[in-house]
Amino acid sequence: MSTFSPEKYYVSKKGTINIKCPYCAVIKPLAINKLQKKSHVLKVKCSCNKVFPIEIEYRQFYRKEVHILAEYMNDSHNTKEVKAGVVTDISLGGLALKVFNDSSIELSDTLKIIFKLDNKLHSEIKKRMKVVHIDRKRGIIGCKFEEMANAGSQEKDLYYYLK
Ligand SMILES: [Zn+2]
Repeated sequence: MSTFSPEKYYVSKKGTINIKCPYCAVIKPLAINKLQKKSHVLKVKCSCNKVFPIEIEYRQFYRKEVHILAEYMNDSHNTKEVKAGVVTDISLGGLALKVFNDSSIELSDTLKIIFKLDNKLHSEIKKRMKVVHIDRKRGIIGCKFEEMANAGSQEKDLYYYLK
């Protein structure tokens, strides 16, 4: 067993991380090919033959600035009113939504959102997300995606969109 607690690595724009061996200090790039939804710990074997754990963190994944029209609904309120907003940046973990004259949104509200990526396929993204930040002055709502069942193809579309 390794005596090292796992070092945390943030996945880069290119989907790679640079791992540093805690034994010999060799730095080696590692491509994260597989689409992982969650942060996780894995064991890496260095060329010096030592094995050590690393933690891969996706939360800091590349945020892309965009301007995409979206429709959203506040699931935490009784109204089923669909409103229009603009997605201003997006990452695998969440997005920022610009809203217009909507002061009803509060922290921890759950929003449902639907929009199409401006990629070739115009992939449709439907998400449920939690409000984690509100900038009332600029009308920007920061949201974190909630885990959804059967979101596989959306995650994949988003992943390639952000690459
Ligand atoms: Zn090593």
